[in-house]
Amino acid sequence: MPQSFPVHSFEPSSRLVSNCLSNPLSKKGAIYIHIPFCIQKCIYCDFYSKTDLSLIPDYITTLVKEIKKRSESQNNINTIYFGGGTPSLLSIGQVDLLLHTIKDTFSIASNAEISFEINPGTVDLKYLEKLRNIGINRLSIGVQSFNDDKLKFLKRIHSADDALRAIDHARKARFINISFDLIYGLPCETKSMWLKDLEKAVTMEPAHLSCYMLTIEPLTALDKKVTTGTITPLDNTFMTLLFKHTAKVLNNFGFDHYEISSFAKNRSTRSKHNSQYWNMTPYFGFGAAAHSYDGKKRAWNHKSIKNYMKDINSGRLPVEGSEILDLKQKKLETIMLRLRTLEGIDIKKYKSQFNINFKEEFKDIIKSVQDNAFGCLSHDSFALNLEGKIRLDNIIEIFAKKIL
Ligand code: SF4
Repeated sequence: MPQSFPVHSFEPSSRLVSNCLSNPLSKKGAIYIHIPFCIQKCIYCDFYSKTDLSLIPDYITTLVKEIKKRSESQNNINTIYFGGGTPSLLSIGQVDLLLHTIKDTFSIASNAEISFEINPGTVDLKYLEKLRNIGINRLSIGVQSFNDDKLKFLKRIHSADDALRAIDHARKARFINISFDLIYGLPCETKSMWLKDLEKAVTMEPAHLSCYMLTIEPLTALDKKVTTGTITPLDNTFMTLLFKHTAKVLNNFGFDHYEISSFAKNRSTRSKHNSQYWNMTPYFGFGAAAHSYDGKKRAWNHKSIKNYMKDINSGRLPVEGSEILDLKQKKLETIMLRLRTLEGIDIKKYKSQFNINFKEEFKDIIKSVQDNAFGCLSHDSFALNLEGKIRLDNIIEIFAKKIL
């Protein structure tokens, strides 16, 4: 089995999408709202966002129309996620309007997880208190680092002090379920620099941490710097070391490494929203560039805010494209997503979904993974260990060759 690999982080903002009209009776599990605005573009970011904030009011009006247009009575939403972009650029009134529209249009579980991404450079105590009061119950804070040099390199708009203040304010505003996003593997980053960041994060006692390896996404400012030779990225071997180190340190601090980039203090503080993606639960995505999945079809909205608003305001759904997942694609996606997780593939569930025994179907691959000590087959499941997760891309490739 090849040894080299890229470890990919799950990017909640590549955040999934669909138009769902093909299967009106399907039950929907999640709602994602994309807020594609940022004060400035971070060097590494390829999420769809614009810096023209004057568009926000019209965008919110359009979002409300889209949510109402795609309403379905037969659904049971148990997670709502405001991502971006920078949702914390919205006024409380705008967030409240979106939440009310969702609640008036869909059936929302009374204990629904309602997450909201905040950029530490955009919030104060009052804002967070109001967010809590209107029903947001989980915060995802884009800390990225507690090191100002790292933040400057990444072109973040905030400092380490801003992040510490935002965390303090979040607690004062009575948020308990708080997650931090952290980034590691910057050019010139040493093991001790990352360890310091990680330890600082742990001392702030978050319920959840998402630790993303810096990846060079095509056409970003970072990509340009790498292509022109201005900076040299860390090599794969060192990145692997940092990845292993992250898992080890957080494990020692009592975090559960339940997905490649995700660590939770306990089972109840895992991201319920992202877990639905990893379970291939249907979801609605609202807003420009948002994706949806109805259990059969994946669809994606226009990336361009202009085209998105034009379609909605002309009475059309703002769908740019869609694809029906055939059985092979569904199988591969299920395996791909489940192998990211601690629990891996549920053998019984796989049989009920695809009417075939996973152990029989992939006997050779399972044997090879086990012989190399990259994972383990039990009576109920097949999961990769840390060494296996490091080689996830290679292992998926082998599954893909067999399935497709
Ligand atoms: S704030 Fe977030 S979404 Fe906006 S540019 Fe930076 S990383 Fe991308």
